[in-house]
Amino acid sequence: MSAIPVIAIHGGAGTILRSAMNPETEARYHAALADVLRAGERILADGGSALDAVTEAVRLLEDCPLFNAGHGAVFTAAGTHELDASIMDGATLDAGAISCVTRLKNPVLTARRVLDVSEHVMFTGEGAEAFALEHGLDFVEPSYFHTDARYQQWLKARGTSRTLLDHDAASQAAGEDDVIDPTKKFGTVGAVALDANGHLAAATSTGGVTNKQAGRVGDAPLIGAGCYANDATCAVSTTGTGEMFIRMLAAYDVSAQMEYRGLTLEDAARDVVMNKLPRIEGRGGLVAVDGKGNVTLPFNTEGMYRGYARVGEQPVTAIYRS
Ligand code: ASP
Repeated sequence: MSAIPVIAIHGGAGTILRSAMNPETEARYHAALADVLRAGERILADGGSALDAVTEAVRLLEDCPLFNAGHGAVFTAAGTHELDASIMDGATLDAGAISCVTRLKNPVLTARRVLDVSEHVMFTGEGAEAFALEHGLDFVEPSYFHTDARYQQWLKARGTSRTLLDHDAASQAAGEDDVIDPTKKFGTVGAVALDANGHLAAATSTGGVTNKQAGRVGDAPLIGAGCYANDATCAVSTTGTGEMFIRMLAAYDVSAQMEYRGLTLEDAARDVVMNKLPRIEGRGGLVAVDGKGNVTLPFNTEGMYRGYARVGEQPVTAIYRS
């Protein structure tokens, strides 16, 4: 008998402290995550594909200003927004990705279109937008991505050579070392799913890190680093300090450790997040699911916005380390 379909999502990881949260803000994050999970769960319950479920979940997360993707993306050092996204189908190993786009409302939908129709895997900048135009995807003015909370984060980092993981930027914006303004915590987003046919898929989307140099590309749009899916092993979406996730090929490494070492999903993901990434000061986490419906959501930061929903069950959401 095949496993019960399931979807898991994240909304970014970083310095997220219980002491700085109030019940209303916590409730907003839980509600936003649960809404997205319910939408994904409905697609899976109706027999929809894992690929469609992760596409829709990430699209909804991009539209939600609480998270650093689509509307609400962080600022680059130049005061602009550059967005990255990727998606992968575990059944076929088809993939689509775009990077450094500035005017696409939902980067994940263009990544999906690349997966569906293009012979190529990845487009960047103007070429990605030309592809989107050709395929009738929605464009917005760059001002659509401006949110005041992000702007305040960027003002703290502007003029320095530092980049900030967006939850850490929120901490800086609050002006205190160990207390963050809970209204300014946002995150890169991602989703993984297993469908009723036993297929896996993953998608990731981000505005990147606050004050990144123009043209910088993180792990989120890189297949194998920020996103990976293979029916033979697992589906993975990551969040964190992108450079380290690229160097560690973090998402693929979870799959490889299952394939080559015979590790369980839980052990493979744990090794990447708790052992390998910290060795190069990689901070963040990931969500992953395997073909048996096992789900794991490890992170090595104070918190990660996350959750999962199995078909027929209520969504489970969480923010802090339990
Ligand atoms: N991994 C993302 C990047 O480096 C940032 C994040 O996950 O918050 O672009």
